[in-house]
Amino acid sequence: MPQNIINEDKIFSILRKTENTSQEDITSILDKAKNKKGLSLEEVGCLLNLNHSGFKEELFGIASLVKDQIYGERIVFFAPLYISDFCVNDCRYCNFHTSNKGLARKKLSSFEIKEQVETLINMGHKRLLIEFGEDPENNNIDYVRQTINEIYAVQTAKGNIRRINVNIAATSVENYRKLKEAKIGTYQLFQETYHRKTYESLHRGPKADYERQLSAHIRAFYAGIDDVGLGVLFGLYDWRFEVLALISHAQYLDKHYKIGPHTISMPRFQPAESVDFTSPYIVNDDDFLKIIAILRIAVPYAGLILSTRERPRIRKAAFKIGISQASAGSCTSTGGYGKNINQPQFKVRDERSLDEVIKDVMEDGFLPSFCTACYRKNRTGEAFMRISKPGEIHNFCRPNGLLTFAEYLEYFTNNGLREKGERLIRFYLEKIEDTNLREETRIRLEQIRQGRKDLYF
Ligand code: SAM
Ligand code: SF4
Repeated sequence: MPQNIINEDKIFSILRKTENTSQEDITSILDKAKNKKGLSLEEVGCLLNLNHSGFKEELFGIASLVKDQIYGERIVFFAPLYISDFCVNDCRYCNFHTSNKGLARKKLSSFEIKEQVETLINMGHKRLLIEFGEDPENNNIDYVRQTINEIYAVQTAKGNIRRINVNIAATSVENYRKLKEAKIGTYQLFQETYHRKTYESLHRGPKADYERQLSAHIRAFYAGIDDVGLGVLFGLYDWRFEVLALISHAQYLDKHYKIGPHTISMPRFQPAESVDFTSPYIVNDDDFLKIIAILRIAVPYAGLILSTRERPRIRKAAFKIGISQASAGSCTSTGGYGKNINQPQFKVRDERSLDEVIKDVMEDGFLPSFCTACYRKNRTGEAFMRISKPGEIHNFCRPNGLLTFAEYLEYFTNNGLREKGERLIRFYLEKIEDTNLREETRIRLEQIRQGRKDLYF
């Protein structure tokens, strides 16, 4: 397995060297960021230390521009679905840790999976992120595969789930091959913290193996999975270190495997029932927004994912500076949609319904999207990178966003939202530059209004 994905000495040295970056240097780094080609670790280091409020505004403005030029105005929505909270690990920050004896462990039966998925479909969701604790007996790969098949098979009068992203513990090439066969979207796995000593002190159980976690995405590549997501659980260690390490990881995958991360997640630690973890590294709101803007310009092609761990006010600000995917209407307990039966993994801060979140982002001019087209059209791995890196992916995102949002308006929303939504659709339809594509989108929008579903480019 590969060595030196993360070079801690190098990261610390960059952080020291860039402590007193001149204003001229910051200006030229921000200028370079506008080219959407990403930044070097040294350049990112300079921005991490940036505190001058004028520069911060400029950074946010450029991040917003880069998001717009790569992905356009759309925000893709999804929901997490907790399948099993059985877990053999003892992660200090997580309520599912094995030493939480107050949690009556639960894994969903086929019947419960169907029930939960029907609830999610009837909310309007098309994309799920399924979550499991690590437990070789209760959550073995066959259970994961069976779950995926069962979810794809659920159909209600309002639709179905069209893309399943998966968050399971680091595993073997053989198991990743089985996941690939089950037709997953993105395989997501967070390093939690890239700082080895901190990592080792916060984990017990198989997950405590730092190398196993760090090399997991590469094993997934060996198994033929070519869409992977990275992430840090912010609050475990110094965020400046974590950002540089996360970008090193992304650059490593891109350089050696020609596939950078399809997505990057930036969860912040949230309190949880049985968790007594405290940390001097808790990230404040200002720094959190800076992290998002820096990631957006440093890895411009990656989807940036924001969860409901964040309060509505922060989500609103984050959407404006680079977030391209978000969960909404989420529940973080096993089997918890429509029921209140089990302890959640952590506390959710945005408790609004999907409809309320959609209304809010529309008011800010974003196009809510439920698109699942790329992996169904084989735009994954290197093929996705070839389109997203030069900023051409929005040519697909806009029409697909329009079609899936029109479907949402047709089946899931009330009249007030519908009228506003139709106005938004007309506005962005006219912005499709290619006349043939615009015409074809117009035709398909009409077909959706007449009852067709699942149209995409
Ligand atoms: N068991 C798998 C694993 O650990 O990779 C699935 C992950 S878990 C269901 C999803 C993510 O939730 C974890 O990777 C972690 O980053 C995050 N998480 C755990 N406890 C959290 C907390 N208290 N606050 C915020 N996020 C948390
Ligand atoms: Fe288990 Fe994942 Fe929670 Fe760790 S983070 S205790 S592995 S569910």
